[in-house]
Amino acid sequence: RAKKDGPGKVILFEPRMHADALARLTLGGELRRALELDEFRLLYQPLICLETGAATGVEALVRWSRPGRGYVRPAEFLPLAEENGLITDIGRWVLRAAGEQAARWRRTIPEMTLNVNVSGRQLTDPRFTGDVERTLAECGLPPAAVTLELTESVLMSDPRTAIACLGDLRDLGVGLAVDDFGTGYSSLSYLQRLPVDELKIDRTFISRAEPTVADLAVIRTVVELARTLKLRTVVEGVETEEQHRAMRELGCDYGQGYHLCRPLEPENIPAAFANPLATYPGG
Ligand code: C2E
Ligand code: MG
Ligand code: MG
Ligand code: MG
Repeated sequence: RAKKDGPGKVILFEPRMHADALARLTLGGELRRALELDEFRLLYQPLICLETGAATGVEALVRWSRPGRGYVRPAEFLPLAEENGLITDIGRWVLRAAGEQAARWRRTIPEMTLNVNVSGRQLTDPRFTGDVERTLAECGLPPAAVTLELTESVLMSDPRTAIACLGDLRDLGVGLAVDDFGTGYSSLSYLQRLPVDELKIDRTFISRAEPTVADLAVIRTVVELARTLKLRTVVEGVETEEQHRAMRELGCDYGQGYHLCRPLEPENIPAAFANPLATYPGG
């Protein structure tokens, strides 16, 4: 048996692995070229204050505008960019482009804030804080107007390093958010020591169109935890009115999701800020 299985495995898997490696090499080259050819774009999804229904800020979400193939979502190219290191250059491009855009918007919407996603590789790059400082200064954007989002899994994979890196950013004055909270395995003692301002509750927590009593109990606990730690809460993936109402009633501060507002092309952002969601009964 063993003898049959052995060579069988090689024959079965080797060509596929070879094809994968080749595809990754090709995609890696194309990503590099995409940066040179300026093929990355940003969509912006408003963060909605659940109390008032008003948009208060936007999260920049990168897309690869690939000729003939439309917008490619980050899940299809960021993992590879993360692996081959190109994420550092892409991330730099994102911060600059989003920063310039936000500075333009803030001339007419002065309170608008900007959230930008940051990868683990960027965070641990010793030049990162300096890059951020310089970029924001060149954009004319006060650091306090910007929140950098790091996923819980990045922060918790090496919490001591994360705490050290975040400290420098905190000193710079930018806001810091734990993204996709609830998908990793947060150590509560580390969470308490992370110098962060915002907890973004992952959308898997409210994945049911009509949250159950148990779902709500879990979210209530997270919201209370955040309040204890003095963190703003943002709930991701609000897709129904039921979810929207439930999150508002639980005291979650902000929401993001298709039901509230989809990620938008930049030209559509001013209208989203000019038109708050319908006001709520009684307030
Ligand atoms: P994320 O930061 O958690 O962003 C939220 C994702 O959920 C976005 O997907 C957004 O389009 C999507 N979304 C928003 N509302 C809803 C909803 O109601 N339902 C559902 N099902 N999805 C919703 P997107 O744009 O595909 O981005 C995926 C992830 O890629 C982001 O997750 C973030 O981790 C990463 N990413 C995006 N842009 C950047 C970037 O510039 N740099 C880095 N390092 N990562 C980025
Ligand atoms: Mg995010
Ligand atoms: Mg998220
Ligand atoms: Mg998420």
